[in-house]
Amino acid sequence: MPGIVYLDGQWLPSEHATVSVFDRGFLFGDGVYEVIMAYHRQPFRLEQHLARLFRSLEHVGIPNPLGLHEWRYLVEQLIERNEGDQQSIYLQVTRGSSGKRQHNYPTDLKPTLLATSQPVSVLEKVTTEIEPCSAILLEDIRWARGDIKSTSLLGSVLLKKAVYESGADEGILHRDGVVTEGTASNVFVVKQGELLTPRLSDYILTGITRDFIFELAERYGIPLLETDISLQTMYDADEIWLTSSTAEVRPVIELDGREIGTGKPGNVWKRMAQLYQKHKSELYSCGA
Ligand code: PMP
Repeated sequence: MPGIVYLDGQWLPSEHATVSVFDRGFLFGDGVYEVIMAYHRQPFRLEQHLARLFRSLEHVGIPNPLGLHEWRYLVEQLIERNEGDQQSIYLQVTRGSSGKRQHNYPTDLKPTLLATSQPVSVLEKVTTEIEPCSAILLEDIRWARGDIKSTSLLGSVLLKKAVYESGADEGILHRDGVVTEGTASNVFVVKQGELLTPRLSDYILTGITRDFIFELAERYGIPLLETDISLQTMYDADEIWLTSSTAEVRPVIELDGREIGTGKPGNVWKRMAQLYQKHKSELYSCGA
C-alpha cells in the first residue's frame, strides 16, 4: 500500500505528490533532510533531530517553513496516517523554485517541504540475528561540509556503489589517512576496552546515535575518547562499530578483507547494543 506523504501543506498518496521541475532540490540538490525512527509509533529523539534540521537550514540559509510545534505535529500526523509499528520518517526541505534554472537564488523563495514514512523492521533484542558486516576503507570524496545534512548526496551515492561492487556491506571513509565516518553512519573503534571515535569537524555529521552512545558510555563508565583515527588503528582495532538511526549500532567484523579482533561481534559491542535497546525503549515510551 502506497504511503501518505506531506507536501507543502497537503496530505497525498505518494503517487499524487509532485514538485516543479525547477525545484532547486531536483536541479541542484539544494536542500537538507532528516531521517528519524519511530518505534511503536513513537518518534525517537525527535527534539534532537529537529534541532539538527534547524541547524542545517540555518547553515544553508533556507528559511525554516514551520515552527517547532508544527514540526512535532507534522511528524505525529505522518506516523498516524501511515502503516507500520516501526517507521522510518524522512523530512526534506529544499530551497524551492524560482521558475527557472539559475545557480544564484532570490531570497524570497518559498521552501518545498516533503515528509514521508516507510515501514521498517527493527530488532529490539540483541540476538545472533543482528548481522555483523564487512567494510572497506575509501577516500572521502564528498564535499567538505559533511556536518550539514544536505540532500546533495552524489559523493555518498558513488561511494556506496563502489562498496557494493567490492562485495562489502559498508564503506568507512578517510581524508588523507584520517578516518571521518561511514557513508551513512558514524564510526567507533574499541581498543583495549576504550571507545575511540573521530572528533567532530566540518567533515562529519553529528550523529544523533553518536550522541546517544556518548550518553550511554558516560552513564555506564565506558571510557570514550574523541581523537584522530588512522587506517592502521582501524586494522588493529579490537572492535569496529558503525552507528546510525536506522542501523543503530552495527558491528564490523572484517575490514578490507582482514579480520577485525576475533572476527566476531565483540563484548563491548554486545554490552552497548543491550544498553541501547534498554534505554531506547525507556526513551521512546516517554516521548524523548
Ligand atoms: N553520517 C552520515 C553521513 C549519515 O548519513 C548518517 C545517517 N543519517 C550518520 C552519520 C548517522 O547519523 P544519525 O545517527 O543521526 O542517524
